[in-house]
Amino acid sequence: MTEADARAPGGPPAPGLPDQLLQGLASGRLRIVDLTAPLHEQTPMIRLPAERGQPWPFSREPISRYDAKGPQVYWNNLRLCEHTGTHFDAPIHWLSGRAFDDVSQVPVRRLVAPAVVIDLEREAGEDPAFLLERRHVEDWIARHGALPEGGWLLLRSGWSRHGQDPEAFLNGGVTPGVHPLCAQWLAEQTAIQGLGVETVGTDAGQAGGFEPAYPCHWFFHGANKYGLTQLRHLAELPARGALLIVAPLPIVGGSGSPCRVIAIFEKEAP
Ligand code: MN
Repeated sequence: MTEADARAPGGPPAPGLPDQLLQGLASGRLRIVDLTAPLHEQTPMIRLPAERGQPWPFSREPISRYDAKGPQVYWNNLRLCEHTGTHFDAPIHWLSGRAFDDVSQVPVRRLVAPAVVIDLEREAGEDPAFLLERRHVEDWIARHGALPEGGWLLLRSGWSRHGQDPEAFLNGGVTPGVHPLCAQWLAEQTAIQGLGVETVGTDAGQAGGFEPAYPCHWFFHGANKYGLTQLRHLAELPARGALLIVAPLPIVGGSGSPCRVIAIFEKEAP
Protein backbone atom coordinates (compact mmCIF):
# COMPACT_ATOMS: atom_id res chain seq x y z
CA MET A 1 0.00 0.00 0.00
CA THR A 2 1.35 3.39 -0.91
CA GLU A 3 1.08 6.46 1.27
CA ALA A 4 -1.55 7.84 -1.10
CA ASP A 5 -3.68 4.67 -0.75
CA ALA A 6 -3.63 4.98 3.05
CA ARG A 7 -4.99 8.50 2.88
CA ALA A 8 -8.71 9.01 3.02
CA PRO A 9 -9.84 11.05 0.02
CA GLY A 10 -9.27 14.65 0.95
CA GLY A 11 -8.30 13.67 4.49
CA PRO A 12 -5.04 14.04 6.37
CA PRO A 13 -2.27 11.53 5.75
CA ALA A 14 -2.31 8.40 7.91
CA PRO A 15 0.02 8.80 10.88
CA GLY A 16 3.49 7.37 10.38
CA LEU A 17 5.22 5.19 12.93
CA PRO A 18 6.82 8.08 14.85
CA ASP A 19 3.40 9.71 15.19
CA GLN A 20 1.81 6.42 16.27
CA LEU A 21 4.49 6.09 18.93
CA LEU A 22 3.93 9.62 20.17
CA GLN A 23 0.16 9.14 20.19
CA GLY A 24 0.57 5.88 22.11
CA LEU A 25 2.65 7.64 24.74
CA ALA A 26 0.28 10.60 24.95
CA SER A 27 -2.78 8.38 25.33
CA GLY A 28 -1.14 6.11 27.91
CA ARG A 29 -1.52 3.05 25.70
CA LEU A 30 2.26 2.87 25.72
CA ARG A 31 4.25 3.17 28.91
CA ILE A 32 7.71 4.70 29.11
CA VAL A 33 9.92 3.81 32.07
CA ASP A 34 13.37 5.10 32.94
CA LEU A 35 15.58 2.17 33.96
CA THR A 36 18.48 4.47 34.87
CA ALA A 37 19.75 4.93 38.41
CA PRO A 38 20.18 8.60 39.40
CA LEU A 39 23.82 9.66 39.11
CA HIS A 40 25.33 11.42 42.13
CA GLU A 41 28.20 11.39 44.63
CA GLN A 42 26.78 8.36 46.49
CA THR A 43 26.19 6.23 43.38
CA PRO A 44 27.66 2.80 44.27
CA MET A 45 30.98 1.86 42.64
CA ILE A 46 32.63 -1.47 42.08
CA ARG A 47 35.67 -1.96 44.34
CA LEU A 48 38.80 -3.70 43.12
CA PRO A 49 41.90 -4.95 44.90
CA ALA A 50 44.15 -1.88 45.42
CA GLU A 51 46.82 -3.05 42.97
CA ARG A 52 44.30 -3.05 40.10
CA GLY A 53 43.53 0.67 40.34
CA GLN A 54 40.13 2.11 41.15
CA PRO A 55 37.32 3.48 39.01
CA TRP A 56 36.37 7.01 40.02
CA PRO A 57 33.02 7.60 41.66
CA PHE A 58 30.94 10.50 40.39
CA SER A 59 32.08 13.91 41.65
CA ARG A 60 31.54 17.44 40.47
CA GLU A 61 33.06 20.87 40.89
CA PRO A 62 31.00 23.96 40.14
CA ILE A 63 32.27 26.31 37.44
CA SER A 64 29.75 28.99 38.34
CA ARG A 65 26.33 29.20 39.86
CA TYR A 66 24.76 32.58 39.15
CA ASP A 67 27.70 34.10 40.99
CA ALA A 68 30.67 36.38 40.31
CA LYS A 69 32.19 33.84 37.89
CA GLY A 70 28.97 33.45 35.98
CA PRO A 71 26.10 35.73 37.02
CA GLN A 72 23.68 34.03 34.63
CA VAL A 73 25.24 30.57 34.41
CA TYR A 74 25.05 27.37 36.42
CA TRP A 75 27.29 24.49 35.36
CA ASN A 76 29.71 21.90 36.77
CA ASN A 77 32.78 19.97 35.77
CA LEU A 78 32.41 16.24 36.27
CA ARG A 79 34.81 13.46 37.20
CA LEU A 80 33.78 9.83 36.84
CA CYS A 81 34.69 6.47 35.36
CA GLU A 82 33.36 5.11 32.08
CA HIS A 83 31.74 2.49 34.33
CA THR A 84 30.11 4.71 36.97
CA GLY A 85 26.43 4.20 37.73
CA THR A 86 24.04 2.81 35.13
CA HIS A 87 26.39 2.15 32.24
CA PHE A 88 27.08 0.33 29.00
CA ASP A 89 30.00 -2.10 28.63
CA ALA A 90 31.41 -2.13 25.10
CA PRO A 91 33.13 -5.27 23.73
CA ILE A 92 36.56 -3.60 23.91
CA HIS A 93 36.16 -3.45 27.70
CA TRP A 94 37.54 -6.99 27.97
CA LEU A 95 40.59 -8.75 26.54
CA SER A 96 38.34 -11.29 24.84
CA GLY A 97 36.61 -8.46 22.92
CA ARG A 98 39.61 -6.26 22.18
CA ALA A 99 39.21 -6.68 18.40
CA PHE A 100 35.60 -5.46 18.52
CA ASP A 101 33.95 -2.08 18.95
CA ASP A 102 34.76 0.66 21.40
CA VAL A 103 31.74 2.48 22.76
CA SER A 104 31.80 5.13 20.00
CA GLN A 105 31.79 2.43 17.31
CA VAL A 106 28.74 0.51 18.52
CA PRO A 107 26.18 0.88 15.70
CA VAL A 108 23.33 3.15 16.74
CA ARG A 109 20.96 0.58 15.26
CA ARG A 110 21.92 -1.79 18.09
CA LEU A 111 21.06 0.81 20.73
CA VAL A 112 17.36 0.39 19.96
CA ALA A 113 16.47 -3.23 20.65
CA PRO A 114 13.89 -5.53 22.19
CA ALA A 115 14.27 -6.59 25.82
CA VAL A 116 13.01 -9.55 27.79
CA VAL A 117 12.99 -9.82 31.57
CA ILE A 118 13.68 -12.96 33.56
CA ASP A 119 12.27 -12.60 37.06
CA LEU A 120 14.42 -14.25 39.69
CA GLU A 121 13.76 -11.69 42.39
CA ARG A 122 12.52 -14.30 44.86
CA GLU A 123 15.51 -16.59 44.33
CA ALA A 124 18.02 -13.73 44.58
CA GLY A 125 16.20 -12.37 47.61
CA GLU A 126 16.61 -15.68 49.40
CA ASP A 127 20.24 -16.14 48.33
CA PRO A 128 22.41 -13.07 47.54
CA ALA A 129 24.94 -15.41 45.87
CA PHE A 130 22.23 -16.67 43.50
CA LEU A 131 23.45 -17.51 39.99
CA LEU A 132 21.34 -17.62 36.85
CA GLU A 133 21.62 -21.02 35.19
CA ARG A 134 20.73 -22.20 31.71
CA ARG A 135 17.73 -24.12 33.09
CA HIS A 136 16.21 -20.86 34.37
CA VAL A 137 16.46 -19.35 30.90
CA GLU A 138 15.09 -22.50 29.27
CA ASP A 139 12.13 -22.43 31.67
CA TRP A 140 11.55 -18.81 30.66
CA ILE A 141 11.73 -19.74 26.96
CA ALA A 142 9.22 -22.57 27.50
CA ARG A 143 6.76 -20.07 28.96
CA HIS A 144 7.43 -16.94 26.91
CA GLY A 145 9.02 -18.04 23.65
CA ALA A 146 12.42 -17.62 22.07
CA LEU A 147 14.93 -15.01 23.18
CA PRO A 148 14.72 -12.00 20.85
CA GLU A 149 17.19 -11.73 17.98
CA GLY A 150 19.55 -8.86 18.76
CA GLY A 151 17.76 -8.20 22.04
CA TRP A 152 18.64 -7.73 25.68
CA LEU A 153 18.17 -10.30 28.41
CA LEU A 154 17.49 -8.35 31.61
CA LEU A 155 18.08 -10.20 34.86
CA ARG A 156 15.56 -9.01 37.43
CA SER A 157 17.19 -9.81 40.77
CA GLY A 158 15.54 -7.10 42.87
CA TRP A 159 19.04 -5.93 43.82
CA SER A 160 18.28 -2.31 42.88
CA ARG A 161 16.38 -2.04 46.17
CA HIS A 162 19.84 -1.55 47.75
CA GLY A 163 20.75 1.22 45.30
CA GLN A 164 20.60 4.01 47.89
CA ASP A 165 23.00 2.21 50.22
CA PRO A 166 26.44 1.54 48.68
CA GLU A 167 27.49 -0.90 51.43
CA ALA A 168 24.34 -2.99 51.09
CA PHE A 169 24.58 -2.73 47.29
CA LEU A 170 28.11 -4.21 47.27
CA ASN A 171 27.24 -6.57 50.16
CA GLY A 172 30.86 -7.43 50.88
CA GLY A 173 31.30 -8.76 47.34
CA VAL A 174 28.38 -11.19 47.43
CA THR A 175 25.78 -10.27 44.81
CA PRO A 176 23.65 -12.23 42.33
CA GLY A 177 24.86 -12.96 38.83
CA VAL A 178 25.24 -15.58 36.14
CA HIS A 179 26.85 -19.02 36.27
CA PRO A 180 29.88 -19.31 33.95
CA LEU A 181 28.28 -22.09 31.87
CA CYS A 182 25.11 -20.03 31.44
CA ALA A 183 27.12 -16.94 30.51
CA GLN A 184 28.96 -18.92 27.84
CA TRP A 185 25.77 -20.40 26.47
CA LEU A 186 23.94 -17.07 26.36
CA ALA A 187 26.87 -15.32 24.70
CA GLU A 188 27.80 -18.00 22.18
CA GLN A 189 24.59 -19.93 21.49
CA THR A 190 21.68 -17.49 21.77
CA ALA A 191 20.53 -14.58 19.64
CA ILE A 192 20.61 -11.90 22.35
CA GLN A 193 23.05 -9.00 21.94
CA GLY A 194 23.62 -8.34 25.61
CA LEU A 195 22.87 -8.84 29.27
CA GLY A 196 21.41 -6.22 31.60
CA VAL A 197 21.54 -6.44 35.39
CA GLU A 198 20.55 -4.51 38.51
CA THR A 199 23.92 -5.03 40.24
CA VAL A 200 27.13 -2.96 40.07
CA GLY A 201 28.53 -5.04 37.19
CA THR A 202 27.25 -7.72 34.83
CA ASP A 203 29.11 -10.42 36.74
CA ALA A 204 28.26 -11.82 40.14
CA GLY A 205 30.08 -10.25 43.09
CA GLN A 206 32.06 -13.46 43.57
CA ALA A 207 32.91 -13.84 39.86
CA GLY A 208 36.59 -12.95 40.28
CA GLY A 209 36.97 -16.49 41.62
CA PHE A 210 34.97 -18.17 38.85
CA GLU A 211 36.49 -20.17 36.02
CA PRO A 212 36.91 -18.22 33.85
CA ALA A 213 37.03 -15.11 36.03
CA TYR A 214 34.23 -12.62 35.28
CA PRO A 215 32.56 -14.97 32.78
CA CYS A 216 29.87 -12.50 31.62
CA HIS A 217 32.57 -10.03 30.63
CA TRP A 218 34.73 -12.75 29.09
CA PHE A 219 32.07 -14.50 27.03
CA PHE A 220 29.74 -11.63 26.08
CA HIS A 221 32.48 -9.24 25.00
CA GLY A 222 34.33 -12.12 23.32
CA ALA A 223 31.16 -12.61 21.24
CA ASN A 224 30.96 -8.87 20.35
CA LYS A 225 28.07 -8.45 22.77
CA TYR A 226 27.27 -5.84 25.41
CA GLY A 227 26.54 -5.30 29.07
CA LEU A 228 24.21 -2.97 30.95
CA THR A 229 24.42 -2.46 34.69
CA GLN A 230 22.67 -0.88 37.67
CA LEU A 231 19.26 -0.97 36.03
CA ARG A 232 16.17 -0.10 38.05
CA HIS A 233 12.43 -0.62 37.78
CA LEU A 234 12.72 -3.93 35.95
CA ALA A 235 9.66 -5.10 37.92
CA GLU A 236 7.56 -2.68 35.86
CA LEU A 237 8.47 -4.33 32.57
CA PRO A 238 6.62 -7.19 30.89
CA ALA A 239 8.47 -10.49 30.48
CA ARG A 240 8.66 -9.68 26.78
CA GLY A 241 7.52 -6.88 24.52
CA ALA A 242 9.56 -3.94 25.75
CA LEU A 243 11.66 -1.80 23.44
CA LEU A 244 14.89 -0.54 25.00
CA ILE A 245 16.61 2.67 24.01
CA VAL A 246 20.16 2.70 25.38
CA ALA A 247 22.19 5.89 25.07
CA PRO A 248 25.88 5.66 25.98
CA LEU A 249 28.10 8.64 25.12
CA PRO A 250 30.23 8.04 22.00
CA ILE A 251 33.55 8.33 23.86
CA VAL A 252 36.14 7.73 21.15
CA GLY A 253 38.19 4.70 22.13
CA GLY A 254 36.06 4.33 25.26
CA SER A 255 35.42 1.00 26.98
CA GLY A 256 31.93 1.99 28.03
CA SER A 257 29.89 4.94 29.17
CA PRO A 258 27.33 5.98 31.73
CA CYS A 259 24.06 5.85 29.85
CA ARG A 260 20.36 6.46 29.97
CA VAL A 261 18.21 3.38 29.51
CA ILE A 262 14.59 3.91 28.52
CA ALA A 263 11.97 1.19 28.10
CA ILE A 264 8.79 1.57 26.04
CA PHE A 265 6.08 -1.08 26.07
CA GLU A 266 2.36 -1.57 25.69
CA LYS A 267 0.37 -1.08 28.84
CA GLU A 268 -1.04 -4.42 29.93
CA ALA A 269 -4.74 -4.86 29.52
CA PRO A 270 -6.56 -4.19 32.83
MN1 MN B 1 31.26 -1.97 33.36
